[in-house]
Amino acid sequence: MKALLDHVGIAVQNLDDALAFYRDALGLEIEAPEEVASQRVRAHFVPAGPLSLELLEATAPDSPIARYLEKRGPGLHHITLRVADLEGALAALRARGVRLIDERPRPGAAGSMVAFIHPSSAHGVLVELKQIAARRPAGAVARRITVGDFELISLSDGFFRLDGGAMFGVVPKVLWSRQTEPDDRNRIRLGMRPLVVRGARTMLIDAGIGDKLDPKLADIYGLEREQHLDHALSAAGLTPESIDIVLATHLHFDHAGGFTARDEAGRVRPRFPRAQYVIRRGEWEDAIAPNQRTRASYVAENFVPLAEARVLQLVDDDATIMPGVKVRRSGGHTPSHQVVVIESRGTTAVFAADMVPTVAHLPEAWVMGYDLVPLDTMRFKAALLREAVKNEHLVFFEHDPEIAAGIVVEEGGKRRVERIL
Ligand SMILES: [Zn+2]
Ligand SMILES: [Zn+2]
Repeated sequence: MKALLDHVGIAVQNLDDALAFYRDALGLEIEAPEEVASQRVRAHFVPAGPLSLELLEATAPDSPIARYLEKRGPGLHHITLRVADLEGALAALRARGVRLIDERPRPGAAGSMVAFIHPSSAHGVLVELKQIAARRPAGAVARRITVGDFELISLSDGFFRLDGGAMFGVVPKVLWSRQTEPDDRNRIRLGMRPLVVRGARTMLIDAGIGDKLDPKLADIYGLEREQHLDHALSAAGLTPESIDIVLATHLHFDHAGGFTARDEAGRVRPRFPRAQYVIRRGEWEDAIAPNQRTRASYVAENFVPLAEARVLQLVDDDATIMPGVKVRRSGGHTPSHQVVVIESRGTTAVFAADMVPTVAHLPEAWVMGYDLVPLDTMRFKAALLREAVKNEHLVFFEHDPEIAAGIVVEEGGKRRVERIL
């Protein structure tokens, strides 16, 4: 079991006095309070660097906090450690004879699950274990989260398969096959997860593989699209008409296939009738003039009809696409591949696209064989993940078969993801 210190809880007698000290005298920020009904407690989180303090107020005389204050007066109440798998942690502790206050996880603040260890087993300290944000069912086609003023909705366009060797470049099969098991054709299963960003306008980042693939290619790519982007949009309460802006990370068929669709007359047209399509100029130029190496990934009918319909907007530099949403060129995978950074009220989400396609690609050298300039991928990915770990960015993994988004944590030089979506 690996545990990270999350916060320190302080029982307070009088909240106004506590605010006068922590907020006014120390200058710390106090977040809006959160009620934990099951404990009859009101919690005020006070961010203080990467950790926070939690001021705890009793809301009823039989609250554990009221009893604590009565017995011991105000002061340090508990420390909280974050674990990835709370059920597993409790089972492991029980097996060691540790005395638990909660035999089973119960709901805590902000959608987390928590359980307490008895101070008699923790050298006099009340220890809370916490697992952040409850897991969603893996099959869900639309998963939402709020980031400041934005609502982010990760959609699914189904699954496809690519050669496992090509997905992990120079990494030997004996290593990558421990992370993800190949099928009898040596392929691994990958998700396609476009992202909706709802702010002042509604933006869609990438659009999956679409439905223009012929049966032979659908077989080669092991397509599973019983549930695809249309289902996901409607599960999210959206229609193709809801989308104002379609933003491309790059124009490979598994990202841009859904940009267009065939109409009843068989003509290929923009799939989102009201949308402007925003594409980086360098990527557009590479896609309309592919070479022997890039030809298989760029399919003209996915993007040429956008120019014909005059819904194309080419962008030259790292630009703000709408307030709070910026693109950053990564290069590497393709020379003009870009990631999307979404920022609001001090929280940052990063749509990493093919820079970190799955959580198995977190190690620096685990770079796809498809990448045109792998050393650029390595450099960009290293910087992106360093920043993400330090500032707890929410990272979206477009091709992960299970995890749509999570927080990357680093322990002893090893990175892993705490799943959020
Ligand atoms: Zn790609
Ligand atoms: Zn891709």
